[in-house]
Amino acid sequence: MKVKIAKTAGFCMGVRRAMEMVLAEANKGEGPIFTFGPLIHNNQVLDLLATKGVSPVEDIQELHDGRIVIRAHGIPPQKRQAIKRTRLKIVDATCPKVARVQALIRYHSKKGYTAIIVGDKDHAEIRGLIGYSKTPAHVIQRVEQVAALPQHEKLFVVAQTTQNQKNYRIVVKALKERFPEILVFDTICDATHQRQQEVKSFSGQVDAVVIVGGYHSGNTQRLCEVSKDAGMPTFHVETEKDQDDDSRYNMPGPQALIAHRRPPNATRRSPAHRRRRESPPGPSSRRLKDAEREEKYGKGRWARWAYRHRFRAPPRPVECRLGRERQRPRRPDTHR
Ligand code: SF4
Repeated sequence: MKVKIAKTAGFCMGVRRAMEMVLAEANKGEGPIFTFGPLIHNNQVLDLLATKGVSPVEDIQELHDGRIVIRAHGIPPQKRQAIKRTRLKIVDATCPKVARVQALIRYHSKKGYTAIIVGDKDHAEIRGLIGYSKTPAHVIQRVEQVAALPQHEKLFVVAQTTQNQKNYRIVVKALKERFPEILVFDTICDATHQRQQEVKSFSGQVDAVVIVGGYHSGNTQRLCEVSKDAGMPTFHVETEKDQDDDSRYNMPGPQALIAHRRPPNATRRSPAHRRRRESPPGPSSRRLKDAEREEKYGKGRWARWAYRHRFRAPPRPVECRLGRERQRPRRPDTHR
């Protein structure tokens, strides 16, 4: 059986950044570290962090000393102020893409606009976003809720960074029909968008999709929705132990394996990956790339540089100071 692994599998930029910040703090060995809520919706990663002395807390009242990490979802400014009043040291791992939405909300609500946020009202990111609005914000998730919104003169709409693109488009269309002057911001994160697109792209190419991610992760659930909407049999698993019944994967064609917010080794350990390893060897995409590079540019540092910058002009001879000729690819004119 052939198994395809999605190119977008693994941690997104925001979560990887938060993990690196927490691990760097843990390695300093300067006392306890707390995270404001679980750093990531993934029990295995939380267990790993616990072994490093990182524990999630929901309430800072009982904390007197140590460091507290603001996770990628961000927190409302009121909570940030409350932390500042304690002796806790803040490590801010808010994802820059979430911070951009927070800034948009703060800026436009200050100008008298009312925010409509499309997302899950119980999600930590949404609770944080609401806190940045100077005027009362409305949170909706489905197009049916548009009709129930009160009339406003000045409105703008943003999405939770991990919203389903299709759903956001439908909601925005209905909002524009009802409030033609509404300002629309596309705040869905690229990482989410790319994953959803990649899942859709497997339609017609694979017999089934295995999505690896936390059972309570909204992102992973949304990926499953997208996969099911595309008409593919979809299996959501959290660890390799969840795949005891291997018979369901016995399909003739290739399967896609999307690992969302999973450490890379979790993907490697899954039975789908085991099968891929057991299938007859073929040239890997990395080897094909190396072969292509060597064929076009030869070996060495310049060749790698030229390939990285997709420099396709043939190398030309250049005079060096000592008068000898050597082959070197021309640099693109980036500074003109
Ligand atoms: S906004 Fe995107 S990159 Fe940032 S944490 Fe969320 S999914 Fe990851």
